[in-house]
Amino acid sequence: MMPSLLDEVQLTCLKDGLANHHRFVLVAHTSPDGDAVGSTLGLADYLKGLGKQVNIVLPNAFPEFLDWIPGASDILIFEQETERATRLILEADVICCLDLNDLSRVEDSMQSVINEAGAECWLFDHHLQPKDFCTLTVSFPKLSSTCEVIFRVIYELGGFPDLTYEAAQALYAGMCTDTGGFTFNSTRPEIFFIISCLLEKGIDKDKIYRLIYNNNSLDRIRLQGYVLHEKLQYFDQYRSTLFTISREEQKAFNFQKGDSEGLVNIPLSIKGVRMSCQMREDEEQDRILISLRSVDDFPCNKVAEMFFNGGGHLNAAGGRLYCTLEEAVDIYHKAMAHFKPLLLGEK
Ligand code: 5GP
Ligand code: MN
Repeated sequence: MMPSLLDEVQLTCLKDGLANHHRFVLVAHTSPDGDAVGSTLGLADYLKGLGKQVNIVLPNAFPEFLDWIPGASDILIFEQETERATRLILEADVICCLDLNDLSRVEDSMQSVINEAGAECWLFDHHLQPKDFCTLTVSFPKLSSTCEVIFRVIYELGGFPDLTYEAAQALYAGMCTDTGGFTFNSTRPEIFFIISCLLEKGIDKDKIYRLIYNNNSLDRIRLQGYVLHEKLQYFDQYRSTLFTISREEQKAFNFQKGDSEGLVNIPLSIKGVRMSCQMREDEEQDRILISLRSVDDFPCNKVAEMFFNGGGHLNAAGGRLYCTLEEAVDIYHKAMAHFKPLLLGEK
């Protein structure tokens, strides 16, 4: 069994809100990942079961490898259907914000529409330091994923018996992607209780794993090989690694959204490595996107905050720099030098 998550105030607020409101819009962060897509679809399923009008609006497109998730094709992309999405947001009674800790994690244009809307905002999330912008905040940074948060909320509200097979697949997908196929951030027993509940709904977890991880294009696999063979730098003195991917390289490998997903984790499998960094020239804007991953107690979110205008979790963080790749690499060297004692495990 699972210990309960929600306190009395949260439960009352949810129950009252669900009784009194009809039109719900669910949003999640820019560059949506499996957790953003899965958690919005999972919550939408519950709300639809209660007879609510529900729409999911994500700021921009999600990667193709998530297309198979049931209901994904009904998701509105703000960037592509701005007018319709704007109308739905403005007409909503409640806007549920998922998998984000700050409304600035949706694009500026979508953020201003949400601010303009008269709706109540509810937050469901697992990132650190949630901003106080909602009337209901359900934030649990220790949990594996927003999908886990949503499952537990539905469970505590008594909605599990009606959870559909489709929503079970969506929630499992998000838990799976946010934990690297249950290889990190996933040692609490509740996670396996939840998985057993989702299995009861008939999900095929092995098939979902294959749909997520063994669903590559030839170009993506070749890009991985190229990066690991030609681009990966290993800094023994810092127990760290770095690779960069330029716009030209992305073009050469017919780069699609999500093609570099997970790549930054691979160097962490080198014995002794504590931090891995990916720097990629954004294909849309003039900036460098930075992904950091670490193992054990090394806080890569601190590196992201201090050097890359970003943040994130202890072992997975990100940021951005407005400079050239070469300049960004120099900054990474400064960051490694600054964090050397921690990287070497000397506190
Ligand atoms: P990714 O490398 O996948 O882009 O990001 C890794 C993690 O860092 C994700 O959990 C993401 O939410 C978080 N992250 C990325 N950029 C930022 C940022 O600017 N601020 C914060 N707080 N988290 C970020
Ligand atoms: Mn997440």
